[in-house]
Amino acid sequence: MIKENFNAIKEGLPDDVKIIVVTKYHTVEEALEAYEAGVRDFGENRVEGFLEKRKALPEDADVHFIGTLQSRKVKDVAEHLTHLHSLDRESVAKRIEQHAPSAVKCFIQVNVSGESSKHGLDPEEVQPFLEEISGYGKVEVVGLMTMAPLTDDEEVLNATFGRLKSLRDELQESHPGITELSMGMSNDYEIAVEHDASYIRIGSKIMGSR
Ligand SMILES: *Cc1c(COP(=O)(O)O)cnc(C)c1O
Repeated sequence: MIKENFNAIKEGLPDDVKIIVVTKYHTVEEALEAYEAGVRDFGENRVEGFLEKRKALPEDADVHFIGTLQSRKVKDVAEHLTHLHSLDRESVAKRIEQHAPSAVKCFIQVNVSGESSKHGLDPEEVQPFLEEISGYGKVEVVGLMTMAPLTDDEEVLNATFGRLKSLRDELQESHPGITELSMGMSNDYEIAVEHDASYIRIGSKIMGSR
């Protein structure tokens, strides 16, 4: 089923949208099955799962770190960290600078909806944060990431994804390297893609629910 699910989603997407297949609730065997189905971008949100999948998957697979990463744990993953989708603290940037062997592509996590349960910076905090971390050469900010509220309300979803896109457009004037938008999950990715998502992060709709 993984292959059919992946292909069905891929067929409905513009060619330049990348699918990160989130394997956080699934085994190494299932991740390898996804690899066989053609998946090359994987998402994990915990250090243990990240390291386990990284070790098992072939070199040409990218394992994206999509969850909150505590600064004291950066050194545990630094050797394998290529993409971090949750940067929202200077302490993490500092540890990346100390421990990463080469530049890490980072997405600033933005809490667009203002829900207190969500990680990420408020939209107006992003510009000052970029100044704060501008000295860290190994922290290559390539885009913004957000998680929408858990809802089917299209108005809320349109507002959330639209806000992240307009923030990206604003920031690009001073930071031309900020081009990517990591947004959209199983239940809301179609709306995210309408707002220019370049990476969608899909778990249950491809891997099945746990
Ligand atoms: C789990 C997770 C996803 C995928 O969620 P699904 O609803 O299963 O598609 C995407 N992004 C993050 C940050 C996650 O933790």
